[in-house]
This record gives sequence, C-alpha cells and structure tokens, in this order.
Amino acid sequence: MYSRAVQRILMFAVALLSWGAVMAQDVMPVHVMNVQPMDQVLIPAHLNPGLAIDLDNPASYLYPEWSNEYVHKFDNAVLPDTVVISMKGYCMPTDSTRITDKYGYRPRRGRAHLGLDVKVKIGDTIRAAFDGKVRISRYERRGYGHYLVIRHPNGLETVYGHLSKKLVNENDIVHAGDPIALGGNTGRSTGSHLHFETRILGNAINPALMFDFPNQKAATDYYVYQKNTREVYYKVKSGDTLSKIAIKNETSVANLCKLNGISKNTVLRIGQTLRVN
Ligand SMILES: [Zn+2]
Repeated sequence: MYSRAVQRILMFAVALLSWGAVMAQDVMPVHVMNVQPMDQVLIPAHLNPGLAIDLDNPASYLYPEWSNEYVHKFDNAVLPDTVVISMKGYCMPTDSTRITDKYGYRPRRGRAHLGLDVKVKIGDTIRAAFDGKVRISRYERRGYGHYLVIRHPNGLETVYGHLSKKLVNENDIVHAGDPIALGGNTGRSTGSHLHFETRILGNAINPALMFDFPNQKAATDYYVYQKNTREVYYKVKSGDTLSKIAIKNETSVANLCKLNGISKNTVLRIGQTLRVN
C-alpha cells in the first residue's frame, strides 16, 4: 500500500520535472537531465499533493531543527543527493533589474561572493521571495549589515543583506511579496544594494539560476540541486598545506589546483578561501 503511494508520488514528480525541463529549455541548461536514481530524489512537500504546507516549520523534511542561532551551520541535518526546488509562488525580492555584482568564486582573490548584488536605493522595498518563516533578523557590522534569513517550504533559505531597516522579526511568518525590509548600505557595502543569497542547508546556489532580475521573472520552474556537483569551499587555517587540505576534503592536489587556478607551489594565506569541490 505504502510503496504504491510512494511510487505514485515519484511518478508525479517525474511528470512535473519533465514539464519543468521543457519550460526551462530556453532559459538555462536543463539540470533535470542529470537526475538519476529515482529513489534518491527528495520530493518537496508542496510537490506532494497529500501533504499540507506547514509554514510554522517550513521544509522540516530537510531541516530537522528550527534555530535562530547560526546562518550557515546545520547540525543533525543530512543533505540529500538531490533536492528539487520549485519556484511556484515566487516573488522578485526587488523590482530593480540592475545586477551590480554576480555570484561566483574569485580564485585570484581567494574570495567567494556567494550572493547576487542587485542595485537598490536606500529605502526601496524588499519583499519576501516565497512564503516562509523568518529565521534570523540580525546586524553584522563587518558583513551583511542589517540582514534577514527566511526559510521556505520549498527547501530554500533566502538571505537579504545590507538593509537599512528590517520590517519583520525572527519567527514571523511571511508570505511571498510581503515587504520585509528597506534597501540600504549597512555592513561591508559600498553603495546601497541588496545582497541576495539562496541556500539549501547552508550550501549557496547562484540566485541567478532561479531569479532573473533583469527580466523580473523566475529563471526556471524547477531547479534541481545535486549534492555531488555542488560547490564546496574551505577556509585555509594555520598549518594547512595543499595536500592536507586535499585529504581533509577527500580530493586531490591536482583537483584543488584546477578548481582554484593555482599550482602545487602556490603559497596559501591563512583565511583564504579555496574551492574544494
Ligand atoms: Zn554581495
């Protein structure tokens, strides 16, 4: 009985995925094609018609705990091999169409910019990207400035940084499009802008793969996140060498060199970021 129900849900997900792939074809490479063993596909609650969405405990199938403490640290959580992220019900966080800094890792600078910078003026309305619950509302002088983290039923957490004012509190339930903050220039920021991040269990994903700011629409209907191809970063500590880092991260020195555009003789700086997968 149970396995038949599961089978049906899987078939439903496959149908949705194929449809999503067709819809997304002219927008971006079709990640959906890479989905392999079906039993590893994690179906978000809102793709499963039998499950109600619990905004009080969003995406509890991914996040076993609700904590306001850390932005990117998730103890007791297991990242599934594949997570299907639905854009259903999204709202663009700002109506600005101007990207001022792209997402990406800058090997030369040993720095990872794990969000997208969108030009906003101080006081511009910033809106919740999806329904969800505010997990963090905080101020970080040297980093995000005033910032918010919202957890959504589709498994994503969105981060909004450099705000001038926050309009919601931790543990508030919000709906897609609700004004949550005003744009600003707080924290480590030159010129007012929104620093926008999309993450799964702390793992950053390029927001441009889901949110097309220049055209003010979703870049896809479904984004398929895969553990084995995700980007992983490592901060160099005192005493580290390339071979030690390679062993710690289950990779090779050659791969580290390739990912970071360095040679095996490159001198590492403490605090520098390296991409390790
Ligand atoms: Zn930024």
